[in-house]
Amino acid sequence: MPESQTTPATRAAGPKPFPWRCPKCRKKVVWREAIPYRVKIKHDNQLHSIEIPQLLIPRCKECGELLFDNEADEQICQALRAHLGLLSPEQIRCNRETLGLTQQELGRQLRLVAEELSSWEMGTRIQSCALDILLRGFFAVPQLRSELQRYFQGAGFGDRLVQEVKGEAAANRPSAGQGALSRTRSGCSEGALQQEEPRK
Ligand SMILES: [Zn+2]
Repeated sequence: MPESQTTPATRAAGPKPFPWRCPKCRKKVVWREAIPYRVKIKHDNQLHSIEIPQLLIPRCKECGELLFDNEADEQICQALRAHLGLLSPEQIRCNRETLGLTQQELGRQLRLVAEELSSWEMGTRIQSCALDILLRGFFAVPQLRSELQRYFQGAGFGDRLVQEVKGEAAANRPSAGQGALSRTRSGCSEGALQQEEPRK
């Protein structure tokens, strides 16, 4: 982490070196410090309590005023992603590139605006939990990608899956209890997709 250490080369291009003047008490004693920090953040219309044991943030040694900058914001975003178990910007970009897709191509396949994907990869915005699941499914499950390809060529998507799951539930119904288990397992993304495979 850069903290307050800056080499002459980075000082010229980067933000001004510490100490900064505090906007509240006007004393020039603001340094970047590591503090325990707790915050409530709204994401997906839900309030999440985030705890960061060591937030590196410019703080006034005199009055304790905190000055949020990009570096502090980025740490808070990282903590929120970790709290929600979301893919990191690097993971999204890396997975997309592994599949040989541009942002535009991935956006087209998932009906997402490329600018939105770009903002997730830059870390300036955080994807919703539902779209995170969609991304994970797309990256991890080849059957989902090929099913989407067929979908774009005019085949149904989703309806057929539900019918097959229903068919399987009917075929495997020695008792109501086992039928329910089968449906539950089919509810998992990978489980449901595995069952698309043609069965003999
Ligand atoms: Zn102050």
